[in-house]
Amino acid sequence: MHHRFTEEQLMIKELAQRIAEEKIKPVRQKYDEEAIFPWDIVKELAQTDLFRVFIPVEYDGMVEEGLGITNMCIVTEELSKACGGIALAFAGSGLGAFPILLFGNEEQKKKYLPQIASGEKLAAFALTEPEAGSDAGAVRTTAKRDGDYYILNGNKIFITNGGEADIYTVIALTNPEKGARGASAFILEKGTPGFEFGKKEDKMGIRASATRELIFNDA
Ligand SMILES: Cc1cc2nc3c(=O)[nH]c(=O)nc-3n(C[C@H](O)[C@H](O)[C@H](O)COP(=O)(O)OP(=O)(O)OC[C@H]3O[C@@H](n4cnc5c(N)ncnc54)[C@H](O)[C@@H]3O)c2cc1C
Repeated sequence: MHHRFTEEQLMIKELAQRIAEEKIKPVRQKYDEEAIFPWDIVKELAQTDLFRVFIPVEYDGMVEEGLGITNMCIVTEELSKACGGIALAFAGSGLGAFPILLFGNEEQKKKYLPQIASGEKLAAFALTEPEAGSDAGAVRTTAKRDGDYYILNGNKIFITNGGEADIYTVIALTNPEKGARGASAFILEKGTPGFEFGKKEDKMGIRASATRELIFNDA
């Protein structure tokens, strides 16, 4: 299938290419070797409005129609050409934002999406557990209703942007008897009581990306 980018997408691509060339290339080796999280690059992406490319205009983004996934992929691809690890700080935030975008209520969208669009806060998506990788339906983390809130218990592993992000979309079971069909997505903010960070993976590659365990203990 032949697909042509729009004028706007070509501009996004060019901007991401420039950041990759001018800002990422000079630091990529150091950040990878020393496993440094690229906050300065995140700031650069925020200042150049690149976190807005996958968020609708009504939530301070720049997507007028549809989902902006192609825009997100364009940026991720260009940044990855310089450093896959640094690109993941951007892509991981998109991954954490999309469940809110697709299934969040209006209050949640208004609260979280503008913060992600401005790049002021990063998001993360948490599905994987020690016994639930490829077999995502084997998730064991539970969410039990308690008045207006849900209380989460369990742990997630290998979470991109773990510890660095402020906004976490977490998959947990509200009805364990139903298995995967009893799963829902929850938004957890960093700093929520009972929500802690565990082991940060000391990876063999893409080391500028933070890959970390999340622990929910009556969170
Ligand atoms: C750098 C990094 C970042 C990540 N970021 C995130 C994140 O942000 N959020 C998140 O939720 N998760 C994240 N993950 C987790 C990732 O999604 C899982 O690693 C992935 O789902 C695979 O699960 P697993 O590692 O448990 O491998 P397993 O599921 O144990 O698979 C191991 C191997 O067995 C094969 N295999 C598994 N089942 C079968 C089968 N039935 N038949 C044949 N072959 C099979 C697989 O293809 C694979 O080669 C990340 C992982 C990495 C490495």
